[in-house]
Amino acid sequence: MYRSNTCGELNASHIGKEVTLSGWIQKIRDKGFVAWIDLRDRYGITQLVFDEDRTSKELLELTRTLGRETVIQIKGEVIERASKNKNIPTGEIEVLVSKLTVLNESLLPPFTIEDETDGGEDIRMKYRYLDIRRNPVKENLIFRHKVSMEVRKYLSDQGFIDVETPYLIKSTPEGARDFVVPSRMNEGQFYALPQSPQTFKQLLMVGGMDKYFQIVKCFRDEDLRADRQPEFTQIDCEMAFVEQEDILNTFEGLTKHLLKEIKGVEVDNFPRMTFDEAMRRYGNDKPDIRFGMEFGELNEVAQHKDFNVFNSAELVVGIAVPEGNSYTRKEIDKLTDWVKRPQVGALGMVYCRCNEDGTYKSSVDKFYDQEDLGKWAEVTGANAGDLICVLSGDVTKVRAQLSALRMEMAERLGLRKADEFTPLWVIDFPLLELDEETGNYHAMHHPFTSPKPGQLELLDTNPGEVKANAYDLVLNGNEIGGGSIRIHDKETQATMFKHLGFTTEEAKAQFGFLMDAFQYGAPPHGGIAFGLDRLVSILGGQETIRDFIAFPKNNSGRDVMIDAPANLDEEQLKELNLKLDL
Ligand code: ASP
Repeated sequence: MYRSNTCGELNASHIGKEVTLSGWIQKIRDKGFVAWIDLRDRYGITQLVFDEDRTSKELLELTRTLGRETVIQIKGEVIERASKNKNIPTGEIEVLVSKLTVLNESLLPPFTIEDETDGGEDIRMKYRYLDIRRNPVKENLIFRHKVSMEVRKYLSDQGFIDVETPYLIKSTPEGARDFVVPSRMNEGQFYALPQSPQTFKQLLMVGGMDKYFQIVKCFRDEDLRADRQPEFTQIDCEMAFVEQEDILNTFEGLTKHLLKEIKGVEVDNFPRMTFDEAMRRYGNDKPDIRFGMEFGELNEVAQHKDFNVFNSAELVVGIAVPEGNSYTRKEIDKLTDWVKRPQVGALGMVYCRCNEDGTYKSSVDKFYDQEDLGKWAEVTGANAGDLICVLSGDVTKVRAQLSALRMEMAERLGLRKADEFTPLWVIDFPLLELDEETGNYHAMHHPFTSPKPGQLELLDTNPGEVKANAYDLVLNGNEIGGGSIRIHDKETQATMFKHLGFTTEEAKAQFGFLMDAFQYGAPPHGGIAFGLDRLVSILGGQETIRDFIAFPKNNSGRDVMIDAPANLDEEQLKELNLKLDL
């Protein structure tokens, strides 16, 4: 028996008990005639004591040969501590050691295994197994476990069945590049790793499973950002005989359950906002509504004077930054530089100070009088003491730019509070999205999404205007889930492929299996997928998903611990019939 107890469970009620513990040496303090070891395992830390009188000289000597992270087993008696530590559950006791066995030695770890470590990100990733011994990482993994257990519990109680779908498949378009896997047995052919199990979950509905879920890895070969991973986890769900309303209610229920069980937070019914409204009010299809600073469109009240920048713009739009009038001229100039950075891309920024005495002072006073500026304040909802920031230009671009500024100001003002949870549904997404470069339309969600009833005809005349039965669940400015009601008949699916630029042959070659299935009594169905990594990090009040993934990849998509991806040797390439041409 390696242990009778864990290192996190002994307290005053165990005093006098003989125990066996196993764990890692966190710390040794040596006072000469007495020494203490902090023994650590997943459950906590227990203090061990050795001294000349009560234990033995040999044991005390032995402690002097041990290094940090050595794995040991001890036997001893639980005794009351002289100086108690109220901050940890085991702080009232220590174990007077009578026997110590070294189970395994450890090299000196390359960084300290403490909550605040001296190791940088790279070294911690290389030795991730040591990093996982640290409390913050360990706690995050345990937190993730709790979230996924609650997800499973809730969905299972609602009658969802967990079904596994294959990883070696044919490409499913979800807007990214595929990772591919060569097939040895089928020369020259490749599997694709699923960008999501989309077509399989639809086929499960055709198969009559009715309610499906899976916590599943998805693979997308995209350029990585800080919060993206090439492989990530979805809570993937699908339901048959449902309308949008059924899906929204079911998954609003799941989200409320998680907020309550994990965070102890009860939220009201989630507001719903159309995509168009979200873009108009926040310039963003995943608006953070924990704070205001809503957009005020100023075309009507700013395009009647001689200011050409505004007159020639498609959209003039502003936000009122609370208390922003306290900014000095220099600070406003810095803010202007901030919006002009290539990452934001604005050409400039017009501002208007709202003075305490009710007057206004703008950077364009030459063109606008107090009455004009009063209207700006009215439209943007500005109060005395605020600063109105105005951008202008092409609708899509300027909205994105002002949205970036809104989020930045909220961050600076401390309005993005990690312990506040404000979910909402964004609905009625456009079905198609124009690719500016190629002039072609893409499916905004994916090609299996159904248009809103009665809009199919519009596809021929005005494709950009067609709305989809698609919805996103947004939490604190992040898209945490997205889905749609699907097309479930062959004709509509074929029409959709045609509009996405597939020839009949291409559609058949790639998705014949799905269209065939639709001919055998496919029920109306729809679903959603949540990004588990992001959901967990938001619930955990942190920014990066990497912190909640046991073995994440770095920004170049590498696992620096196992050193992947890696070259294949000649033998392997030959077996796969592959030749490299680099
Ligand atoms: N497959 C979709 C995605 O990964 C989700 C869905 O439509 O259910 O975004």
